[in-house]
Amino acid sequence: MSDTGLDTASIRRDFPILKREIGGHPLTYLDNAATTQKPRAVIDALVDFYEHHNANVHRGVHTLSEEATALYEGARVKAAGFLGACDPGSIIFTRGTTESINLVAQGWARQNLRSGDEILLSEMEHHSNIIPWQIAARETGAVLRYIPVTDEGLLDMDEAGRMITEKTALLALTHTSNVLGTINPVADLIRLARSRGALVLLDAAQGVPRQPLDVTALDCDFLACSGHKMLAPTGIGVLYGKPELLERMEPPSGGGGMIRQVWREGADWREPPWRFEPGTPDISGAVGLGVALDYLSALGLQRVQAHEAALTRQALRGLEAIPGVTVYGPSGGVARGGVVSFNVDGVHPHDVAQVLDEVGVAVRAGHHCCQLLMKRLGVAATVRLSFAPYNDAADVERLLRGIGRVKEVFGDDGEQKRALP
Ligand code: PMP
Repeated sequence: MSDTGLDTASIRRDFPILKREIGGHPLTYLDNAATTQKPRAVIDALVDFYEHHNANVHRGVHTLSEEATALYEGARVKAAGFLGACDPGSIIFTRGTTESINLVAQGWARQNLRSGDEILLSEMEHHSNIIPWQIAARETGAVLRYIPVTDEGLLDMDEAGRMITEKTALLALTHTSNVLGTINPVADLIRLARSRGALVLLDAAQGVPRQPLDVTALDCDFLACSGHKMLAPTGIGVLYGKPELLERMEPPSGGGGMIRQVWREGADWREPPWRFEPGTPDISGAVGLGVALDYLSALGLQRVQAHEAALTRQALRGLEAIPGVTVYGPSGGVARGGVVSFNVDGVHPHDVAQVLDEVGVAVRAGHHCCQLLMKRLGVAATVRLSFAPYNDAADVERLLRGIGRVKEVFGDDGEQKRALP
């Protein structure tokens, strides 16, 4: 049992892949910001769906189709509950955060943005929360602006206060940075945006898996997240949108299942969310997502948050004590999610990740789809570790020992002393 009330030994038994060894070492999976592992309950739910309930949704009157529809729509109700949305109709199933943001950039932005309107982003955005807006800006004549990031890796709130103006049509902001772990003061920013008439979209790909989030309490207009980053299968994600906004939004793409009536020259749309889900959706993925959300809810997001915060403190303390290691992002008592980026002096992040892999430690190295932030940090890439509920103190110790091995291989001057296998 961890100090924060999560029984990690028991949680680890729920994740079959954690029994794997890599090169004779126990798997230490610290690449959860990229994607998390899946518990047995989620894997079993997929098998059970295909063995017992598989059929297409919404279109059949036969038993299997009714069962599949009930499971699919049941997952929507669970997702609404998990995110604090009052109306399951405000939950659109997508392939993930990227598709959710694109849906707003194409569906809402095309209709509502005028030349000169401003879309406010930040320097710490993932490319998934930049490129869709660049495309929308090109199409509408809207202008992109970026809230700067301070040297400590926080949003510059003074600048944010000046940049959110009556010209701001939309603030599209990451809840938790996938590089720095910074948790942005989104409640304050939403209030500010609201007072100046702007809408707010939260990229909560890293936020939703790591702390309780309530879209109703936050009063955000849109929120995007990915199932695969919170124990669910790949290929399923969520866009939450305020019902009154979704109601007025045109679907950016069309197909079966989203229309009321079709005639030769046109069609009229079904109500949200189905208006935005043309074609056969990822039915089993949604079912798996529902089970993953049940699993996370049973652990308790507050406990998950405290657990990851303790592991993050342990990792920060350990990394900061190693000479030649630079840690990026906020330190001290600042709110920070379970994501830590660092570099080892003179050693390329890919080499660090490769040496760590030799001892079974999986981390990510690269720009993490955040090239604007890399530029701000003055680096080409970082090594990133990120936590999930099944990580424990022993994982952090193995990571820190692995960095010791990096130093053995490369020396303090970064000159390689030994061959990599
Ligand atoms: N935003 C953030 C903050 C992310 O971390 C990620 C995934 N790395 C995404 C967006 C994109 O998520 P997906 O690839 O699941 O669409």
